[in-house]
Amino acid sequence: MDSLKSKISYLKGYMEGLDIDKDSKEGKMFTEIINVMGYMSEKIESLEKHEEEIEDYIETIDGELTMVKDEIYGYEDGEFLNYDYEDEEDDHYIEISCANCNEIIFVEREILNSMDEIRCPSCHGFITFGSKKEHKSND
Ligand SMILES: [Zn+2]
Repeated sequence: MDSLKSKISYLKGYMEGLDIDKDSKEGKMFTEIINVMGYMSEKIESLEKHEEEIEDYIETIDGELTMVKDEIYGYEDGEFLNYDYEDEEDDHYIEISCANCNEIIFVEREILNSMDEIRCPSCHGFITFGSKKEHKSND
């Protein structure tokens, strides 16, 4: 912004050097142009300052949002903090076999709890497992 200001003051000096009569039509116009440019550079300067403030603000919000997200999801650097993989894995998925094609598929316990049947991803037939969520294994 300093360079824009210095360019404007250079123009001002240049105009004075040209010895343009400031009361002439041209002189008035040049004076007006330089005034407008001065006004614009002030405006730009304040906009830039404002933009810096907004950037700082966004950075602050972003940081806080990340902290909130970490707290809600228990993430940090993409890793689970409060998540026990080994416990979950046995519990979370239930192994069932398709009555039509004998394909072994793993179904989330949640799905078993909320549905009575699912479509087999292999033969697309329906697999019913009733309302009971027991661990079915194929002997
Ligand atoms: Zn099947």
